[in-house]
Amino acid sequence: MILSGAYICLMCPFRCKHTTDIKMEDVNNECLEKLSLRHIKPTAIRLLVLRAMLEAKRTVSLFDLENLLDNTVDKSSISRAINLFLLHRLIHSVDDGSGSLKYGVCDDHCTCSVADQHTHFYCERCHRTFCIQNEPVPVVKIPKGFTLDSINYVMKGLCAECAAKEKQ
Ligand SMILES: [Zn+2]
Ligand SMILES: [Zn+2]
Ligand SMILES: [Zn+2]
Repeated sequence: MILSGAYICLMCPFRCKHTTDIKMEDVNNECLEKLSLRHIKPTAIRLLVLRAMLEAKRTVSLFDLENLLDNTVDKSSISRAINLFLLHRLIHSVDDGSGSLKYGVCDDHCTCSVADQHTHFYCERCHRTFCIQNEPVPVVKIPKGFTLDSINYVMKGLCAECAAKEKQ
């Protein structure tokens, strides 16, 4: 079944009418709600990218996303979706020191301000980076005259899966 024509988003306070063509079986309510909450028009590619990010349950790089989507979506389309998501604060980026930026889905109330930022954990074995959503970043005193925009707080070690393998 194909859902087409005007799609009125229920979450959006402006009740904007999105015109779109989405295959019903690909529609995931959580994705639609998250997009409409951030006033992003739900296109098929945006839904695919967001769903892949939510299913990953960790942060992902552009390269990870290409693989998660079985190389069915080209890199520039993924990259455009990512940039739009960042702009609307649907996702945030993390520099985990691995050389490529990773992206994680923000919780629904996140404004990506310093007060909303959380810590991240980079596993040195499997090279995956996880959002520790309920652990805000510690704010340290900065020198007079400096202004703070963001904090990149990354802990390193072994994730639960790799730590368990280590014990065997
Ligand atoms: Zn955020
Ligand atoms: Zn690991
Ligand atoms: Zn995160």
